[in-house]
Amino acid sequence: MWFRLDLRLADNDALDRALAEHAAVVPVFIWSPEEEGAWPPGAASRWWLNQSLAQLQAELERRGSRLIIRRGPAEEELRTLAADCGATAVFWNRRYEPAVIARDRALKEHLPERGIEAESCPGNLLFEPWTIHNLSGKPFQVFTAFGRRCVRMAAPPQPKPAPAQIPAAALWPRSLAICDLGLEPKIDWAAGLRETWQPGEAGATARLAAFLDGAVGNYGAGRDRPDLTGTSRLSPHLHFGEISARQIWHAAQRIHDSEPYLRQILWREFAHHLLFHFPGTPNEPLRPEFRAFPWRVDAKMLKAWTQGRTGYPLVDAGMRELWHTGWIHNRVRMVVASFLVKHLLIPWQEGAAWFWDTLVDADLANNTMGWQWTAGCGADAAPYFRIFNPTLQAEKFDPAGAYVRRWVPELGSTKYPLPIVNHEAARERALAALVTMKERSR
Ligand code: FAD
Repeated sequence: MWFRLDLRLADNDALDRALAEHAAVVPVFIWSPEEEGAWPPGAASRWWLNQSLAQLQAELERRGSRLIIRRGPAEEELRTLAADCGATAVFWNRRYEPAVIARDRALKEHLPERGIEAESCPGNLLFEPWTIHNLSGKPFQVFTAFGRRCVRMAAPPQPKPAPAQIPAAALWPRSLAICDLGLEPKIDWAAGLRETWQPGEAGATARLAAFLDGAVGNYGAGRDRPDLTGTSRLSPHLHFGEISARQIWHAAQRIHDSEPYLRQILWREFAHHLLFHFPGTPNEPLRPEFRAFPWRVDAKMLKAWTQGRTGYPLVDAGMRELWHTGWIHNRVRMVVASFLVKHLLIPWQEGAAWFWDTLVDADLANNTMGWQWTAGCGADAAPYFRIFNPTLQAEKFDPAGAYVRRWVPELGSTKYPLPIVNHEAARERALAALVTMKERSR
């Protein structure tokens, strides 16, 4: 059983199939970031992975098994592993990032040539991306139509419980220790992450239970308020597959008034649908006219943004929350992203790369869609000419200023920087840039 972004024992199709079809199972994790194309896990994701692997290992040991850790090209490692322990098949759950799909396709061809069956199971979505399409068989580019199609599909299967025991191999192959992978930062900047999160399946299950017991009922109103705990904060757990989308879907469906929340789970499905059908979008805008957009290169402004020193309190609060906890509230993600691409005219790809390195929930599908949505160049995106005013956004969504004061304690003192751009002037400049793009792409 090859664990990848499915670091859980409950509702794990590949694990269940391996157990059903074979007398013994060897759980394996292979660290091969070079095989993830331009998007190897960033620093915050590595920190999370380190903790999550330790949790998975402990859960496996509790069931009489182990987690074998390897590093290197997946094909080579899987072949030597099979030879070392006499395995005749390898099972995994699918992922949908373009580089990973290409690698897995090659594995499906090469492993059987060496006498190893290669079996892949549906990944951590409600529906496989190729099973949802419009009446002409084309992928959706509009969320409402996509969402409507999803709810008309047969309900995703009910989640299955974790196996009580995992029969051990007669011969355990050699393993590295998790710490040999060097995932923890060399200089310890992760204190804020440690105090905020509990990576692993138990942490994910507890978070879902707490959310369904509390905030879900008020999610429709509370989800836009960064000063409250109005959302589930399950995104890193979902990204690493510590909980399945099906577990969340079925548990939330039993709760009255959970539709607004389920809708967000469908946005996640939509993001994966887009990444699967438009694999160039992590680097290129979906709407080609945006290739002619007059972006600016400005290292100083970019640095002020990353450090949370723009002089706009809500933007700075968000960027500091990100640095400290590895996560930002969705409303604030939209505000900081919009500020970068509209007020500063810095390419969305720069923002996506910063998020990639610093978010514990960095996810190629969701991050790409979020940035292209904000920049106006993606599917069903916010129109570029709609420019958030960060001051008004703060008044509306952080009415007592509690969120901003928490992350920007020096607000109101001489230590806090003056705005790096004037809102009105930046707005005019952004609208002029849009006109330039239209002229260039005519
Ligand atoms: P909840 O509101 O509790 O939602 C539950 C789950 O639904 C989330 O965990 C997430 O998996 C999914 N979801 C919610 N909103 C969205 C959305 N707009 N798009 C896709 N899925 C969604 N999300 C990531 O998981 N990884 C990213 O790298 C990421 N980058 C983003 C970048 C930008 C510029 C923007 C605007 C959004 C990004 N998002 C990303 C989407 C969203 O902000 C987060 O999923 C959400 O804030 C996570 O918090 P939560 O778990 O409390 O969400």
